Amino acid sequence: MMRLGLLGFPLEHSLSPVLHEAALQTAGLQGSYSLHPVRPGNTGALGNLVNCVRSGELTGLNVTIPHKQAVLPLLDVLTPSAERIGAVNTIYSRGRQVIGDNTDAPGFLADLERFAPGPASALVLGAGGAAAAVAYALWASNCRVTLAARRVEEAGQLARRFPGTKVVSMDVEELARTDAEVIVNATPVGMFPNVDENAWPDHLPFPVGAAIYDLVYNPAETRLVRTARAAGLRAITGLGMLVEQAVLAFEIWTGYTVPRAVLLRALTQGTL
Ligand code: NAP
Repeated sequence: MMRLGLLGFPLEHSLSPVLHEAALQTAGLQGSYSLHPVRPGNTGALGNLVNCVRSGELTGLNVTIPHKQAVLPLLDVLTPSAERIGAVNTIYSRGRQVIGDNTDAPGFLADLERFAPGPASALVLGAGGAAAAVAYALWASNCRVTLAARRVEEAGQLARRFPGTKVVSMDVEELARTDAEVIVNATPVGMFPNVDENAWPDHLPFPVGAAIYDLVYNPAETRLVRTARAAGLRAITGLGMLVEQAVLAFEIWTGYTVPRAVLLRALTQGTL
């Protein structure tokens, strides 16, 4: 019996139950994927859930905003990538130890590999949790990374985790100077309901030939993706990353690799 779930707040609009219930069904496994909404700062509730994973009462948990960093001190072991990123999205136990991993980074890379493999340079917009996972994934595959953030000091702290990573402010003048092969939006700009917002300044041309990867996946075509395509560039949303990170988490918990097409179908037949 696989007892899986999601820890975060708020959770009403999460697509993870659709993904993992489809995965359980495809794998022919008995189990459930439940939501555990825990308000920020409620460390007692976080500790109780981690202990449920330790005791085996829960097989594993996904972790999302705002607990990806808050949960770190409660875990026994971090995978090297989760430690470097400074955030986890998947926890599980081995023996009595609770382990934290981050499948956002390899999930992003797996999707990028299909879309724009092996970029030499990338500009990442944002410096939060998703930007950390993306920057790590790119940096670890020898890509030159620049972070563009409105709070450059915070971005500087993140960049120090990945030697050689540069930081620029999000001013139009700075963005205009980039010649990155890939631009990744790792901010929530353009996400439903703010679908008219564009993560890239409206009248600023994109770098010639750049590929645009928007981590936002709701709406199905973000304004960033639409304007990039209209400019003749290749552009995709983060739906593929969402699926890949779920495939990897499910594999960690169950040992079963679900075909990504099954999860994509579950999403398109569901809410999106
Ligand atoms: P987060 O930790 O809150 O970080 C958000 C970052 O975006 C921060 O650096 C923030 O800067 C910046 N930002 C927010 N609003 C901005 C604005 N109006 N202009 C410029 N910068 C802005 O959030 P996160 O967890 O990194 O998630 C970011 C996005 O990625 C969300 O939309 C999330 O749904 C998406 N995501 C997708 C996947 C996937 O599988 N496709 C996985 C993870 C995340 P400040 O610090 O200055 O506020």
